[in-house]
Amino acid sequence: MSWERQIHIKSPDELKIMREAGRINAQILATIKSIIQPGVTTADLNAAAEDILKSHGCYSPFKGYGTPPFSGSLCTSVNEELVHGIPSKRRKLKEGDIVSVDSGTVYEGFVADSAITVGVGEISDEAKRLLEVTEGALYAAIEKMRMGNRTGDVSAAIQQFVEGCGMHVTREYTSHGVGRQMHEGPQVPNYGRAGSGLPLRSGMTIAIEPMVLIGTHATRVLKDQWTVISTDKSLTAHFEHSVAVTDGEPLILTAP
Ligand code: MG
Ligand code: MG
Repeated sequence: MSWERQIHIKSPDELKIMREAGRINAQILATIKSIIQPGVTTADLNAAAEDILKSHGCYSPFKGYGTPPFSGSLCTSVNEELVHGIPSKRRKLKEGDIVSVDSGTVYEGFVADSAITVGVGEISDEAKRLLEVTEGALYAAIEKMRMGNRTGDVSAAIQQFVEGCGMHVTREYTSHGVGRQMHEGPQVPNYGRAGSGLPLRSGMTIAIEPMVLIGTHATRVLKDQWTVISTDKSLTAHFEHSVAVTDGEPLILTAP
């Protein structure tokens, strides 16, 4: 994936709309988390997301995206599936699985993009640690979303946190600007050097998304042309928030 997409600085009014979009997206993820249990299919999760989107007059930016067009309103990625898993009636969750749920909401022309990884029933200590490390990396990166820093500071925060815990970050998939488009500039890799990259400016909005693998950083795409898995089939996790740089504290647009 590569792009030189434009960076769009948002006005305070635009940030208010994006915050509303983010609240709806948070509601979707909270609902999905509450219904995840053994026996539920990933298509059931998708249906629950679509019900909430519809009740707010919103839709998902994922559905119909790309080539071949993505068929879900959510990405649901189980265990070794890192990102972009397609919801399916045939994919039943079982005790001990971990499932990454990536949700998008378009509200009044603006996109919210966030993700969580959730354990199904009782999960292994290794899986618990993976979730803690991935979510920890997300908050370490959010802390860097301040004026005076650069995109490389966000990238380095993710890489250092994850590798410091003995795990690996993806090379092929990145954090990204978000706004009227799901993917805007700047592109922000999960790895990089502090002090490098573009300066962060007030009104920049970035979907920060650490994607973490236990074994190695190598991935491949399944025959469905979407689902990304760890090449060694080790467990993977993904957490994401859309975050705005402000004059003060970072603003998590997709917080509840
Ligand atoms: Mg996402
Ligand atoms: Mg994203």
